[in-house]
Amino acid sequence: MVYEGVCCPICKQEIDLDAPYFATSEPFFPSEHPLFKYCDAAMHWDCYAAWPSRSEFARRYFETQIEGEKRNYYWGIALSRDEVAVTVSIDIGQVIVMTAETGDTARVGLNQWEEWLADFDQAVEGLHPVQQDAFREVWPILRDVLPSATVMVRRVDWEAKNKLLWARVELCRIQEEERLRTVRTYNKACQLWINRGGFCPYCGADNPRFEDRGPERKSEFHCIACGQSFGPPEANAASSFGVYLKDAPT
Ligand SMILES: [Zn+2]
Ligand SMILES: [Zn+2]
Repeated sequence: MVYEGVCCPICKQEIDLDAPYFATSEPFFPSEHPLFKYCDAAMHWDCYAAWPSRSEFARRYFETQIEGEKRNYYWGIALSRDEVAVTVSIDIGQVIVMTAETGDTARVGLNQWEEWLADFDQAVEGLHPVQQDAFREVWPILRDVLPSATVMVRRVDWEAKNKLLWARVELCRIQEEERLRTVRTYNKACQLWINRGGFCPYCGADNPRFEDRGPERKSEFHCIACGQSFGPPEANAASSFGVYLKDAPT
């Protein structure tokens, strides 16, 4: 956690949030581990750089982040080596480079990748020397394996990411079905969907036809554009993930 007045766990002095500092989020050591209390905290770069536990701490943070990325369907892993990992999001056009040496990351616009890679000095300008050393170390790998944004995007296993995404959508639909299992809650959710100006979760067409089946039976929607019938579980799952169900792999 980072907040005004937060202290560095290494030197116990306050951190100036206007100056660069190193921070991690979420615990990544078990609570009985001596390094647990340093997780989810901010540190002075000088303290962190000279800290004897830095390499163990950074390595664990690095590995935890990569594990998290594997379950993340919006970010794809373009490169995963012992010393460096690169993930990319096409949706927001961003690249994250993470070094195992510090656990620190650099964020680069996907369309600026080649420019960033071409000028090491500019890329690391203003960074702490320990960060600069870490990036210098992995720079040849980045240049060799990810010479361009196109190569980077092609290296990601998007099919696996897509499967992961659709598995989540289906899980969400099932959970919604369970949550709305009574006729009353189900039909209430239908009304909510109408009030929100609901669209077809399959194709996105507006004004699906509403079939009010009264208080005893679950009501239903019918899309005139694509012919699909659906209810709130489909509608909520699709809108939660920003997808159209017609795109689901068969
Ligand atoms: Zn400190
Ligand atoms: Zn439709």
